[in-house]
Amino acid sequence: MDNSILAIVVPCYNEEEVLPQTNQQLTALLNGMMRDGLVGEGSYILYVNDGSRDRTWQLIEQYSGNDQHVRGLKLAGNVGHQNALMAGLDTARQDADVTVSIDADLQDDINAIPEMVKKYNDGCDIVYGVRRKRTTDTFFKRTTAQMFYKFMTSMGVKSVYNHADFRLMSRRAVDALCQYEERNLFLRGLVPLLGYKTDSVYYDRLERQAGESKYPLSKMLSFAIDGVTSFSVKPLRLIFDLGLIFLLISLGILVYVIVALCEGRGVQGWASLMLSIWFVGGCVLICLSIIAAYIGRIYTEGKHRPRYNIEKYLK
Ligand code: UDP
Ligand code: MG
Repeated sequence: MDNSILAIVVPCYNEEEVLPQTNQQLTALLNGMMRDGLVGEGSYILYVNDGSRDRTWQLIEQYSGNDQHVRGLKLAGNVGHQNALMAGLDTARQDADVTVSIDADLQDDINAIPEMVKKYNDGCDIVYGVRRKRTTDTFFKRTTAQMFYKFMTSMGVKSVYNHADFRLMSRRAVDALCQYEERNLFLRGLVPLLGYKTDSVYYDRLERQAGESKYPLSKMLSFAIDGVTSFSVKPLRLIFDLGLIFLLISLGILVYVIVALCEGRGVQGWASLMLSIWFVGGCVLICLSIIAAYIGRIYTEGKHRPRYNIEKYLK
């Protein structure tokens, strides 16, 4: 068991600023783990270049040329973090017994990796890296991330709180994950569905070592929508609730109108009519857009396009 081949999968998009540090720390860690006999000699780091437009790939080429424990996977274009990660895992499962995925920016404490591997050796198939606190993140990042988790839970998506994509997965867990063929990937929602034995390792979230976040608010929003629409149909049910509320309101108005007529008061109509028309119209459009979001998913899923294309694999 203790001679398992470990692959550390690192998706990289325009990470030239942080990659030298990342590579230095990860190779030191991996060498240490191999020396201690925690993982097998053939273990490696797999950088997945997600169509970077800077010198990221040149750096990866250089590292993998100098070190037999570093590999590089070059995707043919930018496919996004989740798909890039999936490309890395799918490639690593060819010859690795166990994978650890981690972001290139070293925000997740790499020293949690040996602990994860120990839990794997104890029989866990999935080990989540969970942030203890995130005081190092900016206030904005922290609150938006918190809102993100709250929103997801309220929409019925099960995911591990404060866990991103820093996790260990055994080969059979990755094999199982690869059977989930959806194109709208939301890995942290999918992994708990696999059902294998899981555990968590806790660490303090660090600051991004260099470069800037590749997840601006707009990307976070579409990530949240992806998450909700691929795991829950609760929004569709909420439309029904909204319809019910509107019906009740209209009943109330009906009663009011009848009473007013009986009392011989003329009903003053213009303002309330205008407001109702725009209000109801707005609600109907919002509901339509929710339904449209699901139809959009069906559309993209139905095409079964490949998630990524590989341009080069440097072993
Ligand atoms: N990333 C990627 N493709 C993208 C965007 C990001 O592979 O289109 C990678 C990025 O290089 C990093 C990880 O995904 O390794 C997480 O990105 P980032 O650290 O910018 O996100 P944050 O931590 O700010 O949420
Ligand atoms: Mg980050």
